[in-house]
Parts: sequence; structure tokens; C-alpha cells
Amino acid sequence: MNVLNLDSIKQDLIRVAHFCAVKGLVPATSGNFSARLENQEILISVSGKDKATLAEGDLMLVDFLGRAKDSNLKPSAETLLHTQVYRTFPNAKFIAHFHSSSSAVLSKVLLKQGIKALKLEGFELLKALSGVQTHEYTEILPIFPNNQDIEELADLIQPVLDKLANSEKPLHAYLIAGHGLYTWGSTMSETIRHVDALNTLIESYLLEMQLNKVMQGKEEAVKV
Ligand SMILES: [Zn+2]
Repeated sequence: MNVLNLDSIKQDLIRVAHFCAVKGLVPATSGNFSARLENQEILISVSGKDKATLAEGDLMLVDFLGRAKDSNLKPSAETLLHTQVYRTFPNAKFIAHFHSSSSAVLSKVLLKQGIKALKLEGFELLKALSGVQTHEYTEILPIFPNNQDIEELADLIQPVLDKLANSEKPLHAYLIAGHGLYTWGSTMSETIRHVDALNTLIESYLLEMQLNKVMQGKEEAVKV
């Protein structure tokens, strides 16, 4: 990979990190971002950095097994979750992972009720997801239980990714309960669009749930 391309990829990663920080999606140094390079290598944010001030020196090279290359820096604790997406989805060029409170709370509550996927449907904003042409679309985001053992978590996620990689509907993202969301794209613009759309869709879903509860039994009163 030439230096110019590498520089532009670094700037892309800084851009998505700052975007997520401005939106409040990566509190307290959480979240991580990566890009696919050549030769089964990825560039990923290092562990424990404030994403609002992420800079080129906070990015490091790792191989597809998550091992640091030419660096004493510590890669993000969740590096294996990035490499498995790159291995499974050849079109994924960038990955963004954020810890918004709405994604953490919703995934936690649903999984606690035994619901293992979030169904997003009926929203115009679904069309911001790559390949989606209409609001009459159901986006299904798998929800996995959180786990500090990332190898164990990756092993749990892999069969689901494998199954969905071969399905007709593209997978855009998944959730980890009480934790956050992983999404990816073939370009940085697409990846940022997915972050923005999925964050808003999740907030819309929560708002809809709350309003539906408030409106229960009041339908008659508002009918004219
Ligand atoms: Zn995380």
C-alpha cells in the first residue's frame, strides 16, 4: 500500500472517530475503529484513547489474527471482532464500533426478554443502509450476550456471521447486549452513514416503544 493511500485511510479513521465523539456515541474512551489494508492487515485504533482527540499516532497495524505488527502499542481489546468481520465479509473495508447508551440499553432489555435480534422496520431512514431501496424493509440486527473473553465472544458470533454472509439480505451490523453496536461499510462515507442511520433508527425504535406504551388505551380519545 502506498504512503498516500495509507495517509488517506488514517484520515478516514480519524474522521469517523471524531464523528462518533461529537455525537456522544463513544463515551469515556470507548469504541474502536479500523480499516482493511492489503496483505491481511488492518489499521485499528489503540486501546484507551479519547476518540474526540484520536490522531494518527493512535492507530496501529495488526494482522488478521489480531497480533500487533511493528509496534509496542496495545491494540483495542476487541480487535478479534474486527478481524472476523473482514475475514467473513470481503466487501467490508471499514468498521466502526460504538457504545451509545440507546444501543446498550435496548440490546440489554431485549436479550433479557429472550429476544435475540432487533427488528427495525417501517422507517424511511432504513434506505440509508446499503442495498435498501424502500422503507418497507425489515433490518434484523443479531444481539449477542456481552463477554469479556473476546475469543469466546468471537466464537459465538462467527456462525451467525457465516450464515448471514450467505443470505440474500445483507448484514449491516450487530449488537452486543449492554455494550454497543458494530457496523461496517465498503467506503468510509458508507460506514459513517451506517453509524448515523443505525444510531437514529435505534433511538427511533426506543421512542416508538415509549409512545406506544403511553398511547395504550388512549386511542379512542384521540380519534376524531
Ligand atoms: Zn466495545
